[in-house]
Amino acid sequence: MIPAAFDYIRATSLSHALGLLQDDPDSNKLVAGGHSLIPALKLRLASPERLIDIRNLPELKGISLGDRIRIGALTTHAELLASDALHEAAPIFRQAANLIADPQVRNRGTIGGALANADPAADWPAVVLALGATLDVVGPNGPSRVAARNFFVDIMTTALAPDEILLAVEFDRPQPGTRFRYRKIRHPASGYAVVGVAVVLRPVDGAVAEATIAITGATGHAFVAVDAAAQLIGKPLSEATITTAADVASGQAECLADNYAPAAYRQHLIRTEVARALASLDGD
Ligand SMILES: Cc1cc2nc3c(=O)[nH]c(=O)nc-3n(C[C@H](O)[C@H](O)[C@H](O)COP(=O)(O)OP(=O)(O)OC[C@H]3O[C@@H](n4cnc5c(N)ncnc54)[C@H](O)[C@@H]3O)c2cc1C
Repeated sequence: MIPAAFDYIRATSLSHALGLLQDDPDSNKLVAGGHSLIPALKLRLASPERLIDIRNLPELKGISLGDRIRIGALTTHAELLASDALHEAAPIFRQAANLIADPQVRNRGTIGGALANADPAADWPAVVLALGATLDVVGPNGPSRVAARNFFVDIMTTALAPDEILLAVEFDRPQPGTRFRYRKIRHPASGYAVVGVAVVLRPVDGAVAEATIAITGATGHAFVAVDAAAQLIGKPLSEATITTAADVASGQAECLADNYAPAAYRQHLIRTEVARALASLDGD
């Protein structure tokens, strides 16, 4: 549980951080909240030569709410939980943040760190997928934007290059009447999602006009259950449509297996969690 020796430097500006990364991207590691990276260093799953602390960079901070909502990568889980303005626009952030770990982790861990880390059991990947978010990134060639749907590539692997920094998450302010639900079956030790489900759904005149269902915890990376949500479009939320959507979502996934949850159990949890998430929106 003792990390290999490393150097530490606190970046004083975004260009400073980018410059430091360029030196040798593969032997540097950015550190934000440290609540995924430090445990990995202690277990020697990662042994970077240098940590670049990005916690003081203003470009990665804050929540701004206009027609587009922008959440800086350094926003902590606790800040996402506490923001009343964000809760009013997109209550799914408070729903999910409330289920992440414990207050200590929520006070230090950041949404950007969680997305860049891409733990298959992390909560935020499902939320940003369900919102159709875009991730703002900056690298040696300047800024770029990646759709969340193209960001999560594999277990702990994203579309970010080692010399890029995630700046923020952005999405359109959800339309009035949109309904949200994040729920998960928590691992009893860590609180991570054994299976987590994020639903964003907009009914019009009693029928579902738009719906996105995203799932985390079950497979190598969070994914959008496209065919499952398609089952709901143009129909009212009913026991029959919910059951069909939940069955389709479960059938789409090639689930992970570990000592706690075999693949068949995760498959079962997708079905029950999608059904519960959708049923909880009925009459919301
Ligand atoms: C006991 C415990 C329980 C937990 N339970 C949960 C849980 O229930 N649900 C959940 O989702 N998570 C959980 N976590 C993880 C926690 O949410 C982490 O804080 C989060 O995953 C990583 O955020 P961080 O800011 O700490 O990132 P760090 O640990 O600092 O960094 C993680 C990785 O992301 C990279 N990185 C960080 N910021 C950026 C950036 N802006 N641009 C590019 N790369 C970046 C780092 O280089 C590193 O590779 C738990 C952690 C612990 C220790």
